[in-house]
Amino acid sequence: MQDSAALPSRTQHRPPVWRRAAALGLAATLAGALPTRAQEAPKGVIRDAEIEQLMRDYAAPIFRVAGINSKAAKIILIGDRTFNAFVANGQKIFINVGAIMEAKTPNEMIGVLAHETGHMAGGHLAQLRMELANAQIYSVVGMLASVAAMATTTRSLSGKSGGVGMDSRAAMGVMLGPQELVARSLLAYQRIEEQAADRSAVRYLTATGQSPKGLLETMKRFQSEGLFRTAGVDPYLQSHPLPTERIALLESTARASSSWNAVDSPALQARHDLARAKLVGFIGDTGEISRRYPIADNSLAARYARAIQAYRFGRIADASSQINALIAAQPGNPYFQELKGQAALEAGRANEAVPALRKASSMAPNGTPIRLMLGHALVSTNNPRDLDEAIRVLKSTISREDDNSEAYQFLAMAYDRKGDKAMAQLSAAEALFGQGRFVEARTQADRAQKQFKPGTPGWLKADDILNYRPPQH
Ligand SMILES: [Zn+2]
Repeated sequence: MQDSAALPSRTQHRPPVWRRAAALGLAATLAGALPTRAQEAPKGVIRDAEIEQLMRDYAAPIFRVAGINSKAAKIILIGDRTFNAFVANGQKIFINVGAIMEAKTPNEMIGVLAHETGHMAGGHLAQLRMELANAQIYSVVGMLASVAAMATTTRSLSGKSGGVGMDSRAAMGVMLGPQELVARSLLAYQRIEEQAADRSAVRYLTATGQSPKGLLETMKRFQSEGLFRTAGVDPYLQSHPLPTERIALLESTARASSSWNAVDSPALQARHDLARAKLVGFIGDTGEISRRYPIADNSLAARYARAIQAYRFGRIADASSQINALIAAQPGNPYFQELKGQAALEAGRANEAVPALRKASSMAPNGTPIRLMLGHALVSTNNPRDLDEAIRVLKSTISREDDNSEAYQFLAMAYDRKGDKAMAQLSAAEALFGQGRFVEARTQADRAQKQFKPGTPGWLKADDILNYRPPQH
């Protein structure tokens, strides 16, 4: 598991695995889509092959019945412990890892994904943007983004049905600025959109033979437990998105579903349990890990969380024997192999990491983060024979994610060690470009281009970077 931006350190021992600078392209995209207020600043994007695959598997049947192209739609994990999921930038579903940590069953998470898919299929965000353009008040962009982000998450502070906050405030003669007026009209149809997304979600779940129970339970929990951070947000904005009537409406539609009593398969539940354990192992503090996975709990999930904990806190030998025991229990699990490789790599034993990561990569062919780690390990062995494989592996990573600047960084290292200066400089230019460091990218691209023959693929790539002009704000 890797993150792309700084996560607040929750323990004195900052885990070696939390590294900066991964997937900065994604983080940059995110910055444009997310709230701009400081307390709602976007946390880092987290890359994890196991959880990404699980979310894709959860979403695939839903996308299919909703008519969403699952190749175009992306699910992006955010390293934030609050429960949140929302759609932004077209076909991107953002999920806070906190949502996965809270969801006890796959069905709860699938319900949330179905709701977000409802927004996506309904083109709700496009409407939001149109409304924004009509209003022509660009200063509210940040606020509107936060409204959108809170869509599924904000509970009613008053506990009363929707509409009360807005109307009573207006009735009280409070002067509303233009921003609030825009927000009011947006919230009015946001409420309609929420109900539409709920209806779509129940339809998708029923069509795929899955229960809408998880979605309903999650929404009820939002309403009753106050899972959300509320500091700094205008209470007015919080009083609408989840009114009692919405829950009531969802409940009646959900209970009428022919698949109300469907349950998750044990195999899916087992994967879900492992994913949650992984998140707790990587993110939770010692107290939380031992509370959620007490030593007496000998389940695979609990052992996973404890193995990660041992690795994270630098108990290398202990971690290694725990990880080996996990592998013995599930030899075909790519993510146990990945953890073994990751622990070895972080401990400076790249030679030991390579075989485990090779296995993990072949067992999880869609696991881009694993392949990236394998590329990293291969350039770190100091064995010239590993360089060609490193280049091959990293190029295949880039063929899937052409904005993966970390892959370009390792690729630059591999070419440099091979003595191919032109390709090393071009790859470094691509890495800088992906991070939005356009001036430095141009300098590197210029150096690289001088070494290629005009018109060759390398020359043309360098030329693209040299000719790029970032949009003016
Ligand atoms: Zn929603």
